[in-house]
Amino acid sequence: MARFVFITGGVLSSLGKGITASTLGMLLKARGLNVTIMKCDPYLNVDPGTMSPYQHGEVFVTEDGAETDLDLGHYERFIDTNLTRYNSVTTGQVYSTVISKERRGDYLGATVQVIPHITNCIKENIVRVSAINDADVTIVEVGGTVGDIESLPYLEAIRQMRGDVGRDNVCYVHVTYIPYSKTIGEMKSKPTQHSVKEMRAIGLAPDLIVCRTTRSLTREIRNKISLFCDIDADSVIEARDVDCLYEIPLEMERLGLATLVLKRFAIADSQPDLEQIKQLVKNVKANKPDKVRIGLVGKYIKIADAYLSVIEALTHASFACDASLELVWVSSEQIEREGCEGLLDTLHGVLVPGGFGDRGIEGKISAIKYCRENNVPFLGICLGMQCAVIEFARHVAGLEGANSSEIDDKCPHPVVSLLPDQSGVVKGGSMRLGAYPCRINMESRAAGLYASPLIYERHRHRYEVNNEYRARLARKGLVISGTSPDEQLVEMVEIADHPFFIGCQFHPEFKSRPIRPHPLFSGFFAAANDFRKK
Ligand code: GLN
Repeated sequence: MARFVFITGGVLSSLGKGITASTLGMLLKARGLNVTIMKCDPYLNVDPGTMSPYQHGEVFVTEDGAETDLDLGHYERFIDTNLTRYNSVTTGQVYSTVISKERRGDYLGATVQVIPHITNCIKENIVRVSAINDADVTIVEVGGTVGDIESLPYLEAIRQMRGDVGRDNVCYVHVTYIPYSKTIGEMKSKPTQHSVKEMRAIGLAPDLIVCRTTRSLTREIRNKISLFCDIDADSVIEARDVDCLYEIPLEMERLGLATLVLKRFAIADSQPDLEQIKQLVKNVKANKPDKVRIGLVGKYIKIADAYLSVIEALTHASFACDASLELVWVSSEQIEREGCEGLLDTLHGVLVPGGFGDRGIEGKISAIKYCRENNVPFLGICLGMQCAVIEFARHVAGLEGANSSEIDDKCPHPVVSLLPDQSGVVKGGSMRLGAYPCRINMESRAAGLYASPLIYERHRHRYEVNNEYRARLARKGLVISGTSPDEQLVEMVEIADHPFFIGCQFHPEFKSRPIRPHPLFSGFFAAANDFRKK
């Protein structure tokens, strides 16, 4: 029997619905259940691929090449499962589907409406994910906050699901915020009451309320939420801020989140196997006074969500190390103005992540030059690798004015360019996306990091290293450490006589998991830790 947990949010956005969904997924999976998690995003974009990282944070890419919300990254990291394009649905996709069907005449003369046509399409998406994964439990996170106009069709759809699959097979979890008023010295439940009132007006009643709070919930506030929101006091779960993300599942297990959900489904509870995550948290909390200072050279400074998976992957790599991560934000535009010396000289490693457009590009190239010349461990991802190739071309191979044709399509040496058959592309969904095979050069450093000579990594880019320059760059010492199996595409480059200098065209960060850090990140972090000790 397929069961569904629906996660909604109240009061504020960014409350951690995604982490709640991920945590519940992990706790159910740790009991041997087959779990999948999906995200419903109420915006009209077909996918977040065209949105600015300022607006939306990073775009998470699945193995099958869907550009999705960053919450899918949390889901994959917590349930340790690769998800697919079906695990993400947006209003843009739903409307596109319904409108295409209408144009084909599939609705046989009916007036096409939000209810039932849009809601049916949403429900079909939810049921399909459950069926494809043969899931015991499908967790569905509804983006936005209850009360938003645009999330209404999703709330109506999940209300209808109760009738479709039966009351005993659905569980509604509402995540809210309990503010604390310093002047009165009290926690306040009123915003939560209003949010639940809003839900009840559309026919939804939560089974569990997860309360984000900075203090412990008092018995009094619990009783108040229970009375006004019409749920058991035991079904009010406190979610306090913690130091490490991966402590949340342990805390939620202690508070009985999964047990309550299983009770709702009348599934017998069992002991979860959380050994690996316990071990990991113990490791994170161990006293590690030494810090490995890694500079993240980008244009979205201090917007952690824009580089979420990169930061997570660095964190995962640090778990196994005797020193912890200190992330240092470095603005590539500031490097352009002030040079590298004062900004990079105290770092133990530099990471140049992916990106688009020309802003800050020369700063990234200068940072890479600094790393190459000063033996500072360097990892370049996607645009970061392209910048490394440009830097090498200009300063080692003597190709003056080398650039990427994305930045300057009239440059004398386009060492990074579009492939000949790539002209006339539109902006959305037109990149090389998702997992592609890469054959590793067995003489390279990369071969020592990866356990296998053939790897699969996820891509999201348009431009490629220009094959016309490959031989010239290689002659000057740029090692091509990975290519597509047909050898047509350069996937990884490195410099041999350097403690660690690797660039990859793909995004390794998407495949890093807390219990299985990615080999490139582990190798980079270990090299940075050695650099620190020198
Ligand atoms: N802008 C570059 C390209 O399209 C790199 C993309 C990226 O870093 N994700 O190829």
